[in-house]
Amino acid sequence: MQTNFSLAQLADPHVAESEKILRKCVHCGFCTATCPTYVTLGNELDSPRGRIYLIKDMLENGRPADKEIVTHIDRCLSCLACMTTCPSGVNYMHLVDHARAHIQETYKRPLLDRLTRAVLAFVLPYPSRFRAALKLAGLGRPFIGLFEKLPALKPVAAMLKLAPSSLPPVSPKASPGVHAGQGTKRGRVAILTGCAQSVLDPAINDTTISLLTRLGVEVVVPEGEGCCGALVHHMGREDQALASARRNVDAWTRAVGQGGLDAIIITASGCGTTIKDYGFMLRLDPAYADKAARVSALAKDVTEYLATLDLPEPARKPGTVVAYHSACSMQHGQKITRQPKELLAKAGFVVREPREGHLCCGSAGTYNILQPEISAKLRDRKVKNIEATGAEIVATGNIGCITQIASAAKLPVVHTIKLLDWAYGGPMPEGVSERELAAAE
Ligand code: SF4
Ligand code: SF4
Repeated sequence: MQTNFSLAQLADPHVAESEKILRKCVHCGFCTATCPTYVTLGNELDSPRGRIYLIKDMLENGRPADKEIVTHIDRCLSCLACMTTCPSGVNYMHLVDHARAHIQETYKRPLLDRLTRAVLAFVLPYPSRFRAALKLAGLGRPFIGLFEKLPALKPVAAMLKLAPSSLPPVSPKASPGVHAGQGTKRGRVAILTGCAQSVLDPAINDTTISLLTRLGVEVVVPEGEGCCGALVHHMGREDQALASARRNVDAWTRAVGQGGLDAIIITASGCGTTIKDYGFMLRLDPAYADKAARVSALAKDVTEYLATLDLPEPARKPGTVVAYHSACSMQHGQKITRQPKELLAKAGFVVREPREGHLCCGSAGTYNILQPEISAKLRDRKVKNIEATGAEIVATGNIGCITQIASAAKLPVVHTIKLLDWAYGGPMPEGVSERELAAAE
């Protein structure tokens, strides 16, 4: 694609990077066919190619974002299916991240939208605030019907609908410390305890620690780590996202200095995509660029890491039929497609893949709150495809997808690690009944 940026514009490294990305696009439109919002809405401006044109126009003319561009960029899930499809290697992720930061700087959203986003950015990345907010959600639940009737309050209704009615207790394993590996030491890793997941389902990380230590891997929960910054990054709040990235880079760099690390284990693929991008996000900060690149190179999804270990024969041979839902951040963001399915199959599960596996389930960070209607359409489409597999359980590697799919599916939805842990001798995953798993023993 031809571009017409001035030399003065290109002196801004963010613009220069976006210009390089724009020049790679050859307008072929292959990406439209796999874009969930184009497939759902049928509007070129809600396709990757349409958004690329809108972003080019905004940046090239150096103008502030307007209502039209904000509407179409807000509808983008950042699922990155377009990057998997694109034959020209267009890095849509970095382009849309730049556009979102530009929108945040130059566009004044309506008051309620601004307030909703400010509350999400204040609450979600902080487990204690998120926990308190979920407890308060019970008070708002009787008003869901009312909120749904008022367009500006639909995000509030969506939030209340997603909030679980009860919460598991805080896990002691999430506190900073070292969990020693059993038997012969096979490695040393740090684990990201994260934010929303540690409140909604702390058993995911507990199970990961339990399985890894049984396999002889020492697991460190480093002092000072926190939210990866993905949630605010996708809202264009760059300063907040970069502050989170710097804090984690510091925490993990200290952990490397205190005994070395083979990997930083991430159990939510949405976080993994962002942490693997820390090197790029902090490339312009001389104090952090090298450290961030080292952290990104160490970041591994838990299934990516497990696939590098020589796993023993499973303790059980389940034979249970599992529908594997590959989160967008797993398959498109990190290009991890093979390992989770192979691990499940090796552990004795019968793995089935739903049709249209490339399409997002509509969770996408805060998307199911901020764009509840499109999100619900994508969720229902996903659930229909999952249920058509005839599986007894759904496995996936991202808490956002688990919450989203479970809100409409009739079958249990669990993190992949819980099924693997059970097959390798761990306890039955919570929420899965005897009928679904134990019957297969
Ligand atoms: S990230 Fe997903 S929703 Fe956004 S343009 Fe690409 S395919 Fe479409
Ligand atoms: S597939 Fe790639 S090159 Fe083709 S229009 Fe989409 S982004 Fe541009």
